[in-house]
Amino acid sequence: MNKILFVSSEAFPLIKTGGLGDVAGSLPRALQKRKQDVRLLLPGYRSVLAQIKQPHVVAETFHYGQRIRIVETLLPGTRVKTWLVDCPAAFDRPGNPYIAADGHDWHDNAFRFALFCQVAVDIALNRCNIGWHADLVHCNDWQTALVPALLDCYAQRPATVFTIHNMAYQGLFDKQTFFTLGLPHVLWHPGGVEFYDQFSFLKGGLAYSDYINTVSPTYAHEIQQPEFGYGLDGLLRHRSDRLSGILNGIDHDIWNPGNDLHIQYRYSPRTLKNKTLNKTELQTALRLPVDASIPMIGMISRMVEQKGFDTVLGALHELVQWPLQIVFLGNGLAYYQNALTEWAKHYPDKIHVRIGYDETLSHRIEAAADLYLMPSLFEPCGLNQLYSLRYGTLPVVRNVGGLADSVCDTNETSLANNTATGFIVTDNKPATLISTLQRALLYYRNPDVWRQLQVNAMNQDFSWQQSAEEYLDLYQQALENNPKRVA
Ligand code: ADP
Repeated sequence: MNKILFVSSEAFPLIKTGGLGDVAGSLPRALQKRKQDVRLLLPGYRSVLAQIKQPHVVAETFHYGQRIRIVETLLPGTRVKTWLVDCPAAFDRPGNPYIAADGHDWHDNAFRFALFCQVAVDIALNRCNIGWHADLVHCNDWQTALVPALLDCYAQRPATVFTIHNMAYQGLFDKQTFFTLGLPHVLWHPGGVEFYDQFSFLKGGLAYSDYINTVSPTYAHEIQQPEFGYGLDGLLRHRSDRLSGILNGIDHDIWNPGNDLHIQYRYSPRTLKNKTLNKTELQTALRLPVDASIPMIGMISRMVEQKGFDTVLGALHELVQWPLQIVFLGNGLAYYQNALTEWAKHYPDKIHVRIGYDETLSHRIEAAADLYLMPSLFEPCGLNQLYSLRYGTLPVVRNVGGLADSVCDTNETSLANNTATGFIVTDNKPATLISTLQRALLYYRNPDVWRQLQVNAMNQDFSWQQSAEEYLDLYQQALENNPKRVA
């Protein structure tokens, strides 16, 4: 049994802003089921600590003049032991974990997540006397990326694995910040955390971890190219023998149309009629024309450039001429929020926009819609196309990253051998999205073919089973090749 410290800045259901939250909420449990001794480490954000009924402090530590308490709990709904880093100066504030109310990053993010990383190191090395010593530390995204770098400063340390969930977020700060945070000077060089005279958290993970992985095989390949590498493609090519891709799984206890408590009519491939009832129910709730025959398209997303909103906005003038309905749920850049809200005002029968974060509505849209829109410019893995497959809501996706690894385009061959599960958009042009949707709607008008496509999609298995096994293999390699293993 390996002792694994899983370090993440979010984990569902305690705190989630995107796919990382889903992964950190379900992978530790899948590993625990495979006999790993997993501990999850999270920041003790105000909203997270508020959910803990009887806080149990198991250790204390000090960094940056702050007294920090480690609060132990179980990740709700699981037996995964979870440690929360309770440091009011860093985490006791309202709202989003990364972004202030003004829409900008919290001004002190470098301090907050450097402190989080320092605490992870203390725990991994059992320096705050919790009585548990990690064999391997699994870090996720820039907020945790200093951990492998800091650990590498020790003569003996646990093995380290770093997972890239999104290269677009790097934790880039000025040089002075590195020195103000009192980080070890040996890390400051171009092969370390220095990035063109700036301080990159992400590079700590990329340069110092024993193994790196990203959340789909195609994205692992893409980030080694200049187009997707954000200037770090060279480093990733250099480390390519330690870089792999493991597609995320989905949690079938949470995302399963057969037992989803958020939806009114549960269904399976054999009871797809109920899916239509979810559509008319949602149409009624959102005050859209109630008509089961109108194709409904769903999109649930952070409203940022990555997700292809420019392509969507460029296509709307044509799409609103068609008999269809589009339901958007999301929040993010004011520009996209406002533009979509304007469209909804002009075409209330065709477009519904809900600005905000709403877990229940996201399940209802997945259950109700016929098609799911995800024309991302890049997509490390993407989860909503996986949920959509599971819900028989055929995904319309760009052929990038995890989207390319999980959706099979519908054509004569894939129809004939029952592998077709969705529709691939081959570039970012609005005209290409329009023609792909046109193609999809031709199939929609043939109920037998459509049902077969839905069944194909619902029969795909993207549970954690396969992915968790791949992580175990990766851990094994990291443990065997840790140059600083404790003897
Ligand atoms: P990313 O991590 O880039 O945001 P993913 O597709 O990997 O994208 O994961 C997004 C997750 O966040 C999904 O579970 C999705 O349903 C959820 N999500 C995104 N926006 C919202 C929202 N406004 N309301 C509810 N869930 C949302």
